[in-house]
Amino acid sequence: MSEARLTAKASTLARKGQPWFFGDDVASCAAERPGLVRVRDAEQRDLGVGLWSPEARIKLRLAGSWDEVVAIEADAFFATRIATAVGQRAGLRGPRRGVRLVHAEADRLPGLVADEYGDGVVVQITAAALESMLSHLVPALMEATGASWVLARNDLAVRRFEGLPEEVRLLHGRRVEEVTIEEQGVAFPVRPWTGHKTGFYLDQRPARTAVRALANGRRVLDLFCYQGGFALAALSGGATSALAIDASEDALGLARRTAETNGLGGLETRCGNAFEVLRELQQSEARFDLIVVDPPAFAKSKREKEGAVRGYRDLNRRALRLLAPGGVLVTATCSHHVDRATFEDVLRQAAAGLPFRMMLRHRLMAGDDHPVWLALPESEYLKVCVLERVDD
Ligand code: SAH
Repeated sequence: MSEARLTAKASTLARKGQPWFFGDDVASCAAERPGLVRVRDAEQRDLGVGLWSPEARIKLRLAGSWDEVVAIEADAFFATRIATAVGQRAGLRGPRRGVRLVHAEADRLPGLVADEYGDGVVVQITAAALESMLSHLVPALMEATGASWVLARNDLAVRRFEGLPEEVRLLHGRRVEEVTIEEQGVAFPVRPWTGHKTGFYLDQRPARTAVRALANGRRVLDLFCYQGGFALAALSGGATSALAIDASEDALGLARRTAETNGLGGLETRCGNAFEVLRELQQSEARFDLIVVDPPAFAKSKREKEGAVRGYRDLNRRALRLLAPGGVLVTATCSHHVDRATFEDVLRQAAAGLPFRMMLRHRLMAGDDHPVWLALPESEYLKVCVLERVDD
C-alpha cells in the first residue's frame, strides 16, 4: 500500500483524533490515484490508514489504526467495516424498517452514508477515494444486508469539492420507486430516487417518538412538515388535530396519502411559506398545544451563521406566540454551524419578554443509528429541544 506522510503539525493533530487533512497537511504521498494509504509521520511512525483523494479539497481522511488494517488485510477493509456497522444496528433492522447503517466518520468509513429501506440500500458518497472503491463497497453492503438493490443518491453539491459528478445512479438490482417503512405503527412511504436526503428523515426518529408520546389530546402544528412525519406520529399518538405546513405541495400530498392509508383522521395541510403562515395564524389568534419547528438547515456555511441565527430566532418567537398554556414546542436545527449552545441561546432570546416561562424539558439528537463521534463535533449536526410553556 502507498504511503502518505503528514507534516509534524498535522501528525500531532492526527494523534489527538482529527480525521481530516488538507493539502498543506500532507508532506508527501506516493499514491497518484484515490484509494487507501498507510499514513505516517516524519519519523516513519504509523498514524493509521487513510482514504486518499488527490484531487479533492480534503485530501486525506483517517479511517482507523494501521495495526488493524495489517490484521484484517487491506482487501477486506471495507467488508469488515461495513459488517461491523451493520452488526451494531441489528436490533433496529427489519423487513419494513428504515435505518442508517453507515454514518461516515462515526463508523470509521469517512465519506460514506448508507441507509437501509426494506430490502434496499441507498448510499451517498462524498469522498473521491471511496468512489474509486465502489466495486468493493457494493458487494460488501449486499453481503452484510442481503439487499436486493443498491442506489447511489449522489446528487450532492459537496461532491464538487472532490471532483465528483452530482448524479443518482442504480448500482445494483432493479429500480424501486417507493418502499414502505414502519415507525411506531405508522407506515410511511419512502421514495429513494426523489425523496429528500436518501428518501426519509431517519435522523428525527427520536423526536418523532417524543412527539407521539406527548400528543394525546393535543392540537398540533407541524411546521416544515415535508411528508408529515411529525404530524402523523402525533395523530397516531392521539392528537385531536394536526395542521401540517410545507412549501411543497408534492410533500403535502404524500402526507395526506399516508394519513389515509394509516386510517389517521384529523390531518389538515397548508401549502405556503412557514414564516407567512405563522403570521396569518397569529392574526387569526389560533392556538396549539404542541408545535414542531423542523426547518431545513439555515446555515449551510460558516458565513451564513449570523443570518441563520436571526432566522431561527424569528421563527421560534413566532411559534412560541401560538402556544397555548401548558403547550410544548419541539424545535430543531440541523445546521452543522449552529452548535447546541448557540441554538439554546437563540431559543432564550426568542422566549425573552413573553408573559410566560419556557422550561427546557428534553434535549434530543439523532438516533443510535447516527452515532456521534466526540472528536468530530460536526457529527452531532441535529439538535432538538423540547420546551414547555409554564404559566406560574
Ligand atoms: N419535519 C420533516 C423534515 C423537514 S425538511 C420530517 O420530519 O420529515 C424541511 C422541509 O421544509 C422541506 O420539506 C421543505 O419543502 C420545507 N421548506 C423549506 N423552506 C420552507 C418555507 N419557507 N416554508 C415552508 N416550508 C419550507
